[in-house]
Amino acid sequence: MTTYVTGLKCVFCGEEYADRPMFEGCPSCKTKKFVSNVVPIYDYDALSKIISRNSFENFSSVWSCSELLPVDIKYAVTLGEGGTPLIECPTLVEREGIKLYIKDESQNPTWSFKDRLCSVAVSKAVEIGAAKITIASTGNHGASTAAYAGRAGLGSVVFTLESVPETMKIQMGAYGAKILATREPKDRWVLMKECIEKFQWYPTGNYMDPPVGSNFYGIEGYKTIAYEICAQLEWDVPEWVVQPTAYGDGLSGIWRGFKDLYELELIDKLPRMVAVEPFGPLKKTLETGGHIMESVEMGSTIAFSIGASISTYQGLAALRESNGLAVVSNDEEIRELQQIVGRKVGIYSEAAAVASVLGIERLKEEGELKEGETVVSISTSSGLKDTKMTGERIENVPVVDSKIESILKYI
Ligand SMILES: [Zn+2]
Repeated sequence: MTTYVTGLKCVFCGEEYADRPMFEGCPSCKTKKFVSNVVPIYDYDALSKIISRNSFENFSSVWSCSELLPVDIKYAVTLGEGGTPLIECPTLVEREGIKLYIKDESQNPTWSFKDRLCSVAVSKAVEIGAAKITIASTGNHGASTAAYAGRAGLGSVVFTLESVPETMKIQMGAYGAKILATREPKDRWVLMKECIEKFQWYPTGNYMDPPVGSNFYGIEGYKTIAYEICAQLEWDVPEWVVQPTAYGDGLSGIWRGFKDLYELELIDKLPRMVAVEPFGPLKKTLETGGHIMESVEMGSTIAFSIGASISTYQGLAALRESNGLAVVSNDEEIRELQQIVGRKVGIYSEAAAVASVLGIERLKEEGELKEGETVVSISTSSGLKDTKMTGERIENVPVVDSKIESILKYI
């Protein structure tokens, strides 16, 4: 067997194509102002004969049910990604009659959910014989790309920003990537596009402007988050899934995972997807009712991993199809929540990841989240990626001696 992919389809216009790398979006509907990603089409009739709920028992890796991925497992480049815990958080929703879970994606090999994408995207690169991998990233996607490229024996070049925290740069470097920083975010896409055209480099993420989203093969890796959530909740589908969002890759991939299970008749309802974004481009576009992505003013944010002035059609489509919502985060509330989640749950999440818990607060404020409902927050990455930001709120550590009197005033 190779794969169960029978072709590709445009998320917007539905035009179908033969399966091939098509990282600049659907050629039919591309204009200067609009671009839509494509997605693989699977042979569900054949899949339904071999996949049951049992296929997801002991689901321990992205590759546990490789029939639902667009790459032949013989090319799999893996570091044990996926199989992360779903942690119930009763102390965050005391007396509210809501079930809140955090999907702790910091427990992936490079401490972020990007490993699910990069494992699949880099495996495809191996399958098609790519020589060098490239990405524009503020950290998580770059670190993951570098790790998987190295694992596959391929070189990687990461275009990042001057402003990203040192830890992020060091982590990318630790996996052997060549890292280059630009001052303007969009300059990275210009450079990537040129290197892809001139040197046939292989991208794991977006380089189009307006953005199309990440490598569509890689996005399929995010479907496994939905499979794991359903299996972990013993096939009770949550009412809401809240995702920190910039270009909608996670949002779109997780939504596609739920749709796979629905198509295969393993679940009988679907969740509503919620995007949390610092500046609100998806929220603004949803409100227009149109399909052209709106841009918004962008400042700086501690949730830099999801800081974007414009989003993608694939993200918008996931929200519209799932009757979902987009909500806007706020740095000060993220700072407070990071400490609350650390203290009450025991998970230290990156600021961008904490934004998903803040998204749940927004759902409560807006009266969307009802008693008896289940909500899953996708905690995309570890707080260890940017400790400086957290350190600003943590008290200095007093130095004491061995006499009990010296500690009494602190305890
Ligand atoms: Zn199209």
